[in-house]
Amino acid sequence: MLKNPSVFVLGALCALPLLATAAAPSAAKRAAVASVAKHADDLTGLSDKIWGYAETALREHKSSKLLADYAEQQGFTVTRGVSGMPTAFIARFGSGKPVIGIMGEYDALPGVSQQAIPEKSPLVEGAAGHGCGHNMFGAASLGAALAIKDQIAAGKLKGTIIFYGTPAEEAVGGKTYMARDGVFDEVDAMFAWHPGDESMADAVTSQAMVDLMVEFKGQAAHAASDPWNGRSALDGAMAFGQGVEMMREHMKPSSRVHYVIVDGGDVPNVIPEHAKVWIWARDQKRAEVDDLYARIRKIAEGAALMTGTQSVVHLQGGDWEMLLNAPGAKIIDANLRWIGAPIYTADEDAFAKKIQAATHVPAVGMDRGIRALDDQEPEGGSTDVGDVSWVVPTLTLTVVTSPKAAPWHAWPVVATGGMSIGHKGMIVASKTLAASMVDLYENPEALREVRADFEKKKGDVVFKAYLPEGAPPLPRD
Ligand SMILES: [Zn+2]
Repeated sequence: MLKNPSVFVLGALCALPLLATAAAPSAAKRAAVASVAKHADDLTGLSDKIWGYAETALREHKSSKLLADYAEQQGFTVTRGVSGMPTAFIARFGSGKPVIGIMGEYDALPGVSQQAIPEKSPLVEGAAGHGCGHNMFGAASLGAALAIKDQIAAGKLKGTIIFYGTPAEEAVGGKTYMARDGVFDEVDAMFAWHPGDESMADAVTSQAMVDLMVEFKGQAAHAASDPWNGRSALDGAMAFGQGVEMMREHMKPSSRVHYVIVDGGDVPNVIPEHAKVWIWARDQKRAEVDDLYARIRKIAEGAALMTGTQSVVHLQGGDWEMLLNAPGAKIIDANLRWIGAPIYTADEDAFAKKIQAATHVPAVGMDRGIRALDDQEPEGGSTDVGDVSWVVPTLTLTVVTSPKAAPWHAWPVVATGGMSIGHKGMIVASKTLAASMVDLYENPEALREVRADFEKKKGDVVFKAYLPEGAPPLPRD
């Protein structure tokens, strides 16, 4: 269970001279990790069921009920339905300070259904699948919360543990609504993890992004007999696209803009009265995204002027970039090295290599290392965990659950997330999170350093969500 205690002590002495984690793991930390091990079959069982449900954003009714029911059975007080989302929930145990939070996701992705086998083969043709591994994310985070709950119940730790069931990461961004509504305001420090193709305490940020729907309204007419009476909304959309392409030349290298035309009219012989362009703008910094957002608004106005149409820019959502927490990353790094990366059998490695061969990436098998804090490259992508990180110090890690370099948001992640490779990764994540949380309960100085880093980096910035007014758009079916 505790594979490399000597590595922990050596690593911690180098990296964390001021923190209690430099000492040998405490009895409470060992007990918390043992609690994860004790519940491991329950946790992988929950993950497998959610993998099978494969419910997409805000449709995660069975998945959220499964986790909420388990938390309730284990003694948590559960509140179901948060921030207008029936599939969000809060499970809490204990009282007083510190208040430590941990988040779990459980939404799937459309169209990536896959069996737990190393060749592309849908479980249900055209159905959703867990192509981002959120089945493991939710179950492992709840396992870590349960490990802390066990220690509070046994009188070994003092304070409050709160598990947040956060739906719809892949669309809508459930956490963004919860952050906007102040749901996380009572928390002293927040934890989360994410499945990946290697293991590390996260030390690079995600991208801030804004999600816009740009609508053009024109005037219909016969395209051959009286086109002079028409004004084409599609012309507006295309002029808008041209404007965005001209902006692209003059953006920061870190900026990304991508769009699709979701409505370009109905038929060629009617001048289109309506058109819509769905566009996302991203950057490593929210300030740059704000700038792109303002320029996109101007481009929409200009395109409408050019084409005699009207434009409306609808804000649909967005994320802030991750506000990194340096002392928090060191705590997670030390605990991850103590727990150790997953160890695979020859069969598991062969499973991974088959997937790599099928997806045309080097057939190197599973990654077995732990990436250093100072050896991480920023990756493209955004997450609503970023929003939370501007409200409360947020400590996150990535644990390997998928073959090295195989495509993400795709069938390989679904395949390994439904068998022993994924199980091993999620249990390492759960133990690492539990051990790291124990550090903050037992060592007020560690929590103070985490909070001080957060306050310093946040400065006087006040979080304001990229969201329209009102509740999240619930699916109608
Ligand atoms: Zn994800």
